[in-house]
Amino acid sequence: MWQIKGSIPRLGSGRMVEQLIDMGDAAVALDNDLRRDFIRDIIRSDLSEGRVSEVITRFPPEPNGYLHIGHAKSICLNFGVAEEFGGRCNLRFDDTNPTKEEQEYIDAIIDDVRWLGFDWGEHLYYTSDYFEQLYDWAVHLIKAGDAFVDDLSAEEIRAHRGTLKEPGRNSPYRDRPISENLELFQQMRAGEFRDGERVLRAKIDMASGNINMRDPVLYRILHAHHPRTGDAWCIYPTYDFAHGQSDAIECVTHSLCTLEFEDHRPLYDWLVERLPTNARPRQYEFAKLSVGYSGISLGKRRLRQLVQDGVVRGWDDPRMPTLSALRRRGTPPEAIRDFAKKVGIAKAENLIEPALLDHCIRDHLNRHALRRMAVLRPLKVVIENFPEDRVEDMQVANGPEPGMGMREVPFSRELFIEQTDFMEDPPKKFFRLAPGREVRLRSAYFITCTDVVKDSNGEVVELRCTYDPETRGGDAPDGRKVKGTLHWVSAQHALPAEIRLYEPLFTEPIPGRDGDFLNDIDRGSLDVLSGCRLEPSLANVDLGKAVQFERQGYFATDPDSKTGALVFNRTIGLRDSWGKTGKG
Ligand code: ATP
Ligand code: MG
Repeated sequence: MWQIKGSIPRLGSGRMVEQLIDMGDAAVALDNDLRRDFIRDIIRSDLSEGRVSEVITRFPPEPNGYLHIGHAKSICLNFGVAEEFGGRCNLRFDDTNPTKEEQEYIDAIIDDVRWLGFDWGEHLYYTSDYFEQLYDWAVHLIKAGDAFVDDLSAEEIRAHRGTLKEPGRNSPYRDRPISENLELFQQMRAGEFRDGERVLRAKIDMASGNINMRDPVLYRILHAHHPRTGDAWCIYPTYDFAHGQSDAIECVTHSLCTLEFEDHRPLYDWLVERLPTNARPRQYEFAKLSVGYSGISLGKRRLRQLVQDGVVRGWDDPRMPTLSALRRRGTPPEAIRDFAKKVGIAKAENLIEPALLDHCIRDHLNRHALRRMAVLRPLKVVIENFPEDRVEDMQVANGPEPGMGMREVPFSRELFIEQTDFMEDPPKKFFRLAPGREVRLRSAYFITCTDVVKDSNGEVVELRCTYDPETRGGDAPDGRKVKGTLHWVSAQHALPAEIRLYEPLFTEPIPGRDGDFLNDIDRGSLDVLSGCRLEPSLANVDLGKAVQFERQGYFATDPDSKTGALVFNRTIGLRDSWGKTGKG
């Protein structure tokens, strides 16, 4: 499996990325049928040696925010291996912290995973459905002398924990009789104590070299309303206690998580070994995805802050690294899956160039997006020798592939072209329209600029042109050539639209690395153009499905669109601009 390795130098120019991308395509094409990485190798050998008969994985988000592009790596891995090896993948909400979790996040996560193209069938689960079983297993540990109720405060527990160099100290409550532990734990559940007054801890080894094994907390008291269990519980299991046991309940065979849980694996195994579970799941860790300038390294908490502080318009603001934002922006889910595939799975952490994700998006859209004409900054053109009430329907190709078909675009005497496609006093290399110059209007006619109309400030507000009726379709029968081909729309037929252009939200590859991440935000990253003009067929594109505005980039309709007032988001430009901005 091909990957960008950490040792590859920062890419200033697009060329190197292109080379890597070419390698990537070749490698992916080669091993499309037999994808290899250390996790797939483990699964293959587990299956061939009969250690497991069916592969069961899970994707376990905590519903405390929206999913981002990093989560997509985990989703593609978990659902991907289940699919490839004929197993299944559960979607499980790890909803053990009611103070941070909300139904809004659950709904958004379900939408996002589905949008990415994955299906969990009837296997949608919630850790909160297992609270009773988890409680019973906690009691089992107490009875076996493997857990105790501790009266120390959170601060005291921390003080007893020791450091990487020094062992911890036993809690004075560690050797409570089993019967007392059972009674206290029962009272914890019954709501007889305040938040933080007591916890349940595993009894392992305060001198362990692994701090996670120093009598970790299994249950804490939290008098909080849970979105699903309401007020039924006032004690909640910690991640460490809930996660592996939920895996066991669901008979997960391969519990795939990110590297920060590597040091938790001994505890994961310790618990599963001591509990009367039906299954024996195993945890494997892989490197988190990090993508330069995306902000995913900030984590959900700080992404939420951007939303709450109004820095962005919402979790799905197209500048956010969330899947909802990518979708709103018009990113095809296939491109994200392709990206995950190209990044691959490994143990080494590395920062992926944003240009790779952009390449995957462009590559898909280039092959699939319909071509349309839209004028972002309109300049009026009057064709003086074209009859006033005549409308001609021009046949225009929907894209480079013959299978994409043709459409009709109305052409009339008054048109709009792009302001930047005209210069009154052009430099040498400018091949677009200028006084006396002839250009082609895409799939329509050759026109020549004969006059320029200005307002009282001297700004060009209108061009007067003539057209050559012999050039219908965009070619001259006498074989004369023009150097420029412009996109255009008919003024009376064009649809008004607002177009939103986005630059990266962050000015640093890893925002917040050298201080407050809010200092690394580009406050000018949204540019709203109003008064844009679109060809009429754009009234009917699917919401969020990107089309190519010829010569401009890829754009998708935004849900803010209303009849008569369309709103489009720029999904991505036509060319890599990371080199130009000095980023990437
Ligand atoms: P954040 O740190 O952004 O808050 P999280 O890891 O706390 O994210 P979870 O809801 O716990 O969010 O994540 C669900 C799953 O996604 C976990 O298995 C986690 O390991 C995985 N995951 C999270 N971030 C990444 C990432 N950047 N790359 C790959 N997998 C990730
Ligand atoms: Mg987490």
